[in-house]
Amino acid sequence: MRIVEVGPRDGLQNEPVGLSTDEKVELVEKLAETGLSEIEVTSFVRPDRIPNLQDAEEVSRRIMRRPGIAYWALVPNEKGLARAKAAGYRAFAFFMSASEAHNRRNVNRTVAESLLLARALAEAASAGAPPGEGRPRLRAYLSTSFGCPYAGPVPPERVAELAEALVSLGYDEVSLGDTIGAATPREVEEVLAAVATRLDLSRIALHFHDTRGMAAANALVGYRLGVRAFDASVGGLGGCPYAPGAAGNVATEDLVYLFEGIGAATGVDLDRLVAVARWLGGRVGHELPSHLARAGRLWWRGEATAS
Ligand code: MG
Repeated sequence: MRIVEVGPRDGLQNEPVGLSTDEKVELVEKLAETGLSEIEVTSFVRPDRIPNLQDAEEVSRRIMRRPGIAYWALVPNEKGLARAKAAGYRAFAFFMSASEAHNRRNVNRTVAESLLLARALAEAASAGAPPGEGRPRLRAYLSTSFGCPYAGPVPPERVAELAEALVSLGYDEVSLGDTIGAATPREVEEVLAAVATRLDLSRIALHFHDTRGMAAANALVGYRLGVRAFDASVGGLGGCPYAPGAAGNVATEDLVYLFEGIGAATGVDLDRLVAVARWLGGRVGHELPSHLARAGRLWWRGEATAS
């Protein structure tokens, strides 16, 4: 199974207090030392849109590119893709929403327009690659797959149709986002059932927010149904911009504890990861919502306990 660590991007972009460039580089290095094999480092959006990530180029230049780790960059459009390629990335993540209302509000495009852009980006990502290098990895985030803050419920069939469209455009994986932390286990079952009629679930990742405390339950349901890729953010970093004070992405260490507890190896050193989450809480200036960072792991499951 795969855990995609999105804290340095999805987490930091939603934090009120940003990290310094030095601290961002340190965060990525610390995460790499936990055994995580996929890290989303930053976003190449317009700096004025997300000031927290305006040092994307510098962070990208300074991190060590370790073998065996996939470093992801979020790219909103052709310009962002060009910047990410110039910064040395070979794994690119695009984003759009399953609901028209959220897509319009977030990127000022219709869903159909976003699909056209997704196609252009998939083509441009492969163009000009040095000979000998395989094709780049591509993933697409499909936000509001479990509900839209403006339009309410999103039909599972619509999510399935869009996920299939993105795969057909060349995306290796579609990450279904529970953008506002709305999903319950039954809705996860319904969405995955719809998706499974069109796609192998090896093409699907799940991106849960713990806003209403359902993330671990939802992840477990996804795992039982065959999904093997989950996005998470160290410490549970990153609030939800639509729900002030709400929890952010599910904490990576909480998911690791869950999966290790059911015998699904993640390759992540939980004690090291908890240490990173605690360090990070000191940097962002508030306690992070992670359960494991607060409670620690039980002594008979390993070395870490609450400090
Ligand atoms: Mg998120």
